[in-house]
Amino acid sequence: MRIPATLQHYTVPATVLSDSREMLRERGLKGLEAVVVWVGNVVDDTTARITAAVSPGQIAYRSDAGCAVEVPPEALSELIEILPDDVFVLARLHTHPTEAYHSDVDDTNMLISHHGAISIVVPYFARDALKLARCSVNELRHGTGWVELTAAEVSRRFTVL
Ligand SMILES: [Zn+2]
Repeated sequence: MRIPATLQHYTVPATVLSDSREMLRERGLKGLEAVVVWVGNVVDDTTARITAAVSPGQIAYRSDAGCAVEVPPEALSELIEILPDDVFVLARLHTHPTEAYHSDVDDTNMLISHHGAISIVVPYFARDALKLARCSVNELRHGTGWVELTAAEVSRRFTVL
């Protein structure tokens, strides 16, 4: 089974949002950006069910030039290896020290690269409760690149349970 290119709708348990925020914030309190991925099942051609937030192995950098974080390829492989065959990495989240936007570096980061992959940027090191409306939610469209979803699209496409 593969991830359908037609996914439109995601259900996200509230506990996944709070778990994600805890993991992101823990590193943020040290002044470091952090990455969390959302894994889940495909329900049908248009719907996926997020089941858990996972913190992959990652390296954060901090310098005068700013912050960055990356997941080494081997850390991603390790994560994918332990996932059951019907569980996929559907979204990636990472924090920024200030505003949420998809930077040029974020655009070239192919941690996940399937058509329809979701990349969420969480502002202010996740200091506040994680609400998608406060984040930059981006979708990867093959041939176009990462496209930021509008607030209306985010509320239509993500259902928090
Ligand atoms: Zn970024």
